[in-house]
Amino acid sequence: MLEPTRDVDTPAAGADDPYNAALTHLKRAADLLELSPGTYRMLARCKRELIVHFPVLMDDGSLEIFTGYRVQHNLTRGPGKGGIRYHPQVNLREMRALAMWMTWKCAVVDIPFGGAKGGVVCNPKEMSQGELERLTRRYTTEISPFIGPTSDIPAPDVYTNEQTMAWIMDTYSMHSGYTVPAVVTGKPLSIGGSEGRSEATGRGCVVVMQEAARHFGLELGKSKVAIQGFGNAGSVAGHYLAQAGAKVIAVSDSRGAVCNTKGLDVVKLRQHKAQTSTVAGFAEAEDIPAKEVLEMECDFLVPAALEGQITARNASQIRAKVIAEAANGPTTPEADAILENNGVVILPDILTNAGGVVVSYFEWVQSLQKYQWSAEQVNEYLGGFMTKAFHGVYATAKERKVDLRTAATLVAVSKVTEATRTRGIYP
Ligand code: NAD
Repeated sequence: MLEPTRDVDTPAAGADDPYNAALTHLKRAADLLELSPGTYRMLARCKRELIVHFPVLMDDGSLEIFTGYRVQHNLTRGPGKGGIRYHPQVNLREMRALAMWMTWKCAVVDIPFGGAKGGVVCNPKEMSQGELERLTRRYTTEISPFIGPTSDIPAPDVYTNEQTMAWIMDTYSMHSGYTVPAVVTGKPLSIGGSEGRSEATGRGCVVVMQEAARHFGLELGKSKVAIQGFGNAGSVAGHYLAQAGAKVIAVSDSRGAVCNTKGLDVVKLRQHKAQTSTVAGFAEAEDIPAKEVLEMECDFLVPAALEGQITARNASQIRAKVIAEAANGPTTPEADAILENNGVVILPDILTNAGGVVVSYFEWVQSLQKYQWSAEQVNEYLGGFMTKAFHGVYATAKERKVDLRTAATLVAVSKVTEATRTRGIYP
């Protein structure tokens, strides 16, 4: 049955799902910008939504059928850009939300991309490398009418990595009959990846935290930090935070959590996780229940796992002064309101974790030009983009007297609507 337009486009109070959160952010910005109802509805919907079901031959000889998605939210400012996630809970509404946030993120940091996202419903922790390679190659084939270096460029996200990108690039290139490095970003260096890409999300996050610390009277180098999620975004942010002198006092992942109020040795903790697949059991720390990481007394809390972690149920227990959203959508709109009331500053995802897509943009440019930048160049440019974006969002927040998430969404939606107005509505 077709859903009525109004139900699809309008955020529903109390619903915790990420698309509802994304619509709530958009609605607030649209009201402040006094967008027409038609413009709001255009931005509330994703432009294209592809759902694929496909078979993969498993190691035991059985045939498993998987479901995958690639969603493009808005392509007004350029090709679609967004990660690919392998996770058992991947679903269409999550993909829509993540694609919409990618549109805003690319606009906030002013890179010439629209927003997209993809994913496959699967549990990569229970699959062999061979199964993951076959799944990736078949999924790539199924979504290949959608993706391409000038149309939609995937990147890594939760439980996908450089190797996944290499398989996507190779599969797409085999179909094309020639090598197409610019079809993905987050590739290994050996096939045209960029220096600094794998660290970019964490590094960019720390740049934003540094700027925020200055504006909110904190000293990053003397701060205490708790991190939820210790993968690409969380562990790299932890690394640079420790390097800046901050104490990372608690860290969790999907299998456990550890705490050391004197500060964890992040380098050793990353080695421990690489060897054991979890932070739990780290010798120089105490194992704690994972939920305690979010509620730790600290200066900065860095959610770096999944959406919907800080909700109406636990928001009043948060004791951090600042939340730096390395993950996409970790805080629900209900939690936003509680946190604002309690004076907690939120550095919103579409600004804070944009370092990954900024360096993805640099990688795409390098791949198209067949030219390699140095790590110093990449990091200097990344710092410039992140600092400029922070100041743009901060100035908007001051001027419009709104929180930073609303300010970031205002900046982004203004840019996308201006581009739409300038291009006109076809035909
Ligand atoms: P990843 O797969 O490298 O790491 C995910 C981490 O989260 C793992 O340590 C996992 O154990 C942990 N985790 C999963 N469920 C958890 C739970 N319930 N509690 C605690 N920890 C849990 O993924 P990633 O690339 O680091 O992505 C993490 C978040 O950052 C996602 O929201 C993603 O969309 C966002 N993000 C990533 C990038 C990037 O470049 N990788 C860029 C922007 C945003």
